[in-house]
Amino acid sequence: MRENLKNLCAYVPEASLDEVKKKYDLKKVYRLSANENPYGTSKKVEEAVKNWNFSESNRYPDGYAQKLRTAIAKHIGCKESQLILGVGLDEIIAILSRTFLDQGDEVIVSDPTFSEYELNALIEGAVVKHAKCSEETGKTDFEAMLSEMTDKTKMIWICNPNNPTGALNPVEEIDAFLSKVPKDVIVLIDEAYIEFADGNQTAIGLLSKYDNAAVMRTFSKIYGLANYRVGYIVMSSEPGNVLQTVRCPYNLNSLSQTAALAALSDQKFVEKCAGKNAREREKLEKFFEENDIFYFKSQANFVFFKFEDAEKLAEYLLKHGYQVRRGLRKDWLRVTIGKKKENAELMRLILQYH
Ligand code: PMP
Repeated sequence: MRENLKNLCAYVPEASLDEVKKKYDLKKVYRLSANENPYGTSKKVEEAVKNWNFSESNRYPDGYAQKLRTAIAKHIGCKESQLILGVGLDEIIAILSRTFLDQGDEVIVSDPTFSEYELNALIEGAVVKHAKCSEETGKTDFEAMLSEMTDKTKMIWICNPNNPTGALNPVEEIDAFLSKVPKDVIVLIDEAYIEFADGNQTAIGLLSKYDNAAVMRTFSKIYGLANYRVGYIVMSSEPGNVLQTVRCPYNLNSLSQTAALAALSDQKFVEKCAGKNAREREKLEKFFEENDIFYFKSQANFVFFKFEDAEKLAEYLLKHGYQVRRGLRKDWLRVTIGKKKENAELMRLILQYH
């Protein structure tokens, strides 16, 4: 075994809902810890999955996911050859790290940000440098990132909106940052939550300007397909060809391809979810403001807030059937924005504890 793997810790999610139900003798537990879509998924997905051809079970799926690829390219406005599809963004993060990183290379990530960037870099034997997010806004601090750059820097991760802070950096800031990054450093812009942001905030338009930048998207969040594991990256064609070689040949099963294709065809569902999420987000943020609870303004489907007794509050909420995410930063909790009733009850419980 490679020496550097021995001390790494696996990603640890919150306890399973069955475990929680059993522990606290609950009938229902609301998972507000994994940033899933509380509104389920599009009816079109349900139909497509029902009509999925079971008799194809013994056949390998289309390894190039042609139909889905064509639909995504049209949706995004890119060439099909610029797309690499993966088993969720988790797989894309892994194959990017495997493709681009050698031992001793440096990778820059925000602090805090999605932990898989760091874990995958460490698996490849790379060195991870942290650039603290703004303590005021939770936004990615590009000056801090630039000051971490050395001639060993190979890869920079921008999560926008950032998980767990929820904060969004406008495209103009990303553009200005990219103009200062040397061309041999790859900059990965993870837009897992971009559809929840107000207005069109994507950095995809910057890809024609910067060959060393790439944008990632997932079907796990607003499309409500977390269980199907489909994500993709849009990048310039040359490194993209290498990623195609590194990924597993039949990575996306045909049920997932079918579900994602149907989900993409229902942009009305996406718009509705974004609208409901924004309204609930506003209420939750107003609640934090009114109760003097410090939080970062979010453009995602979760809010990160500071609470002195975070661990105890999380356990109290869990006891009442509401699971939030802890352990991301001392004294902070991340709560996924749920449905209207769930949020109302969550706020009531926080107030009761407060
Ligand atoms: N990026 C970010 C910022 C995430 O929060 C997550 C999931 N929590 C992922 C990537 C991984 O998503 P997927 O389900 O597509 O693997």
